[in-house]
Amino acid sequence: MTQWQEQLKKYALLSLKIGINLQKGQDLVIRATVDAKDFVREVVRAAYTEGAKNVFVDWDDQQITRIKYDLAPMEAFKEFPMWLAKGYEEMAAAGASFLSIISPNPELLKGVDPEKISLAQQTGGKAMKPFSKYTKSGKARWSIVAVPTKEWAAKVFPDLDEEKGVAELWEKIFYITRVDTEDPVESWKKHNEALHRRVDFLNEKQFQSLHYTAPGTDLTIELPDGHLWKGGSMVNPDGITFTPNIPTEEVFCAPKKLGVNGRVKSTKPLNYGGQLIEGMSFVFENGRIVDYSAESGIDILKKLVETDEGSHYLGEIALVPYDSPISNTNLLFYNTLFDENASCHLAIGAAYPMNLKDATDLNDEELEARGVNTSITHVDFMIGSAELNIDGVTKDGETIALFRNGNWVV
Ligand code: ZN
Ligand code: ZN
Repeated sequence: MTQWQEQLKKYALLSLKIGINLQKGQDLVIRATVDAKDFVREVVRAAYTEGAKNVFVDWDDQQITRIKYDLAPMEAFKEFPMWLAKGYEEMAAAGASFLSIISPNPELLKGVDPEKISLAQQTGGKAMKPFSKYTKSGKARWSIVAVPTKEWAAKVFPDLDEEKGVAELWEKIFYITRVDTEDPVESWKKHNEALHRRVDFLNEKQFQSLHYTAPGTDLTIELPDGHLWKGGSMVNPDGITFTPNIPTEEVFCAPKKLGVNGRVKSTKPLNYGGQLIEGMSFVFENGRIVDYSAESGIDILKKLVETDEGSHYLGEIALVPYDSPISNTNLLFYNTLFDENASCHLAIGAAYPMNLKDATDLNDEELEARGVNTSITHVDFMIGSAELNIDGVTKDGETIALFRNGNWVV
């Protein structure tokens, strides 16, 4: 077995043991594209070996996705196959776990009408909402892992030829996901413990607000009553741990919907629906985006902000040290799973109910009443840098330095 094959096996096992924490006799649904077939087969083999009952693979092909965007009429993007949405909901209700194996192609949708992309995202978001209740609450355990494509490698390593680029990207992924350590499952247990220590500190403090300063940024974000910071592995309502993102370096919380004021500048490009937005700035008043700009991709940003009412507000704040594995690669991955874990970020759109005490069963109205945002979208953008400082302000007005020059100081 080559070293790559060995690491591929470790990666497959990591996604099952740390990612979804597959239980004996459980069903598994894998969402993947045909680009990832070698890894998907490895995961399926590992899943049955670990005691899965049935493994279903929901295959997609990115070239077919592109063909549809180019050739299908606009009406096609108003419809979603409800049998598929219901199938996901039924599998979740029956106790299956869900593993998404993404194989990014950052320029897949380059030049596609942003109207079609935004309509497809709205339609998909609405149709999958009953299913996403299961994943957002953690009732259905889920995880996301990534596999290189030649297109992705070409974007991350434009100077390498195809084969070298893909090999280099695999190597970086194995480093970032700690698959290159002696015992990746053990490494992740330790990493999760470190994240939980931060989470416990922040939850104990119950800060009134956080204050962000950096070049182009002076932003105050209030936190709702009963907020819960989360990070690393989670415990679902059945008491089983799972790690939704591999990699993950963030601790994150929900902002108070109407409590965001000031301005913030993004520090990395955002890849939204296959298109890039660069150099974004937002101005917030009482939570609402009242002004925004971008150095490029402003029409795409406009579609994002105008998705629905909730896409004018924030739904997530996340803290990631500047000195961490993804950040240390000094690479831009053109993919949120990697880039968000390189950097402090905010998300436009829905808050996670898990970021509020006793809120996993609340509907949208009830969540809004608790002071957090709801939307059909949730899109992260990066604001971390070596110049970012963050202070926490407690309910008695005490200020505690949390980040200096991009890193934790507590
Ligand atoms: Zn995040
Ligand atoms: Zn997010």
